[in-house]
Amino acid sequence: MLLEDLLLMAREASRRAYAPYSGIRVGAAVLTEKGAFPGANVENASYGLTVCAERVAVFKAIYAGAREIRAVAVYSDDVFPLPCGACLQVISEFGSPETTILVAGRGLSRTFTLRELLPHPFPGEGPDQEAQEEQGDGVDGGREEEG
Ligand SMILES: [Zn+2]
Repeated sequence: MLLEDLLLMAREASRRAYAPYSGIRVGAAVLTEKGAFPGANVENASYGLTVCAERVAVFKAIYAGAREIRAVAVYSDDVFPLPCGACLQVISEFGSPETTILVAGRGLSRTFTLRELLPHPFPGEGPDQEAQEEQGDGVDGGREEEG
């Protein structure tokens, strides 16, 4: 499936958003090894219970048996819908740092990698070895000797 087709699916999905509170309708589509799955944001009167379009699409895909996210498209007429941190973390569970994320809205369109948008996903792999070496040899590295 072409990225443009994935974007069309996300655009179509945005029409199914339930967004009576924000008025911001977002659609997403995730491309997996089992095909593509659309989703739209679903808001709630208790605002914090709202679920973003990206997570709706990912959860549908996983429920359908997919386990590998290859690309994600996100579309909105209302905003430039950069995925939030929660959605990026969920995408990182099934994607790779090179997973393509196409964001389009309000006449703008840009392609990112997951690594660009979420360089340090949870749980991470501990302190970066190079950074640690630059600081000396760990926790005690900077301590001056008394004398
Ligand atoms: Zn989100």
